Amino acid sequence: MTSWINWFVALKGNEIFCRVDDSFIQDSFNLTGLNSQFSYYEQAMLIILDMENDVEDEEVNESIDDRIEAEAESLYGFIHARFIITPRGLYMMYQKYINGEFGICPRVGCHGQYVLPTGSTDVPNAMSVRFYCPGCNELYTPSQRRYDSIDGAFFGTTFAHLFFLTYPDLLLNARQIAQPYVPRVFGFKLHKNAHRLTVEAGHKDLNTKPPTSALQPNEANENEA
Ligand SMILES: [Zn+2]
Repeated sequence: MTSWINWFVALKGNEIFCRVDDSFIQDSFNLTGLNSQFSYYEQAMLIILDMENDVEDEEVNESIDDRIEAEAESLYGFIHARFIITPRGLYMMYQKYINGEFGICPRVGCHGQYVLPTGSTDVPNAMSVRFYCPGCNELYTPSQRRYDSIDGAFFGTTFAHLFFLTYPDLLLNARQIAQPYVPRVFGFKLHKNAHRLTVEAGHKDLNTKPPTSALQPNEANENEA
């Protein structure tokens, strides 16, 4: 029989969660403070650990069952946020990262750089999960709808950056590959104050060309860079 955790991490969208070790969940030290945030903490914990009583009880209120199940999923998320910043959790996320299980950066200049799930806040239910690219150092909202309902707090704001402190070569390699985007007009790079210079030159409409001061000879630009 599939364990509850294996079932949960196999759900569509939940592939970005790692499988938290039973031993981590069973160590109450790791869960300090979580019980006060749940109405059915004990029951939710029993579901996560496959220890719930399977005896069918016609009297059990179905809506309460649903609520306990929802709390189990949320509790697992909070435990997950704590687990993935431990050495073991970081390693398990490393395995998923190098397999590309979190997807790639949508930015052209990052050339398919792998990204990491992250929270833009640690406050629960405030923001869904985002993805961090180590190449361009940016956060992205995932385009796949299946991540819309995943709380960013289940990954947290620390994880991605502790990850790259733990595996710094991954970040350094990503930064080497990522290329900044360089805008060009008629083949010329833009002066760093191009838009201000254009405004100052009184450029108003599409019928006149922008002032040449806004454009930089390519060679001069290469030297600046
Ligand atoms: Zn990127």
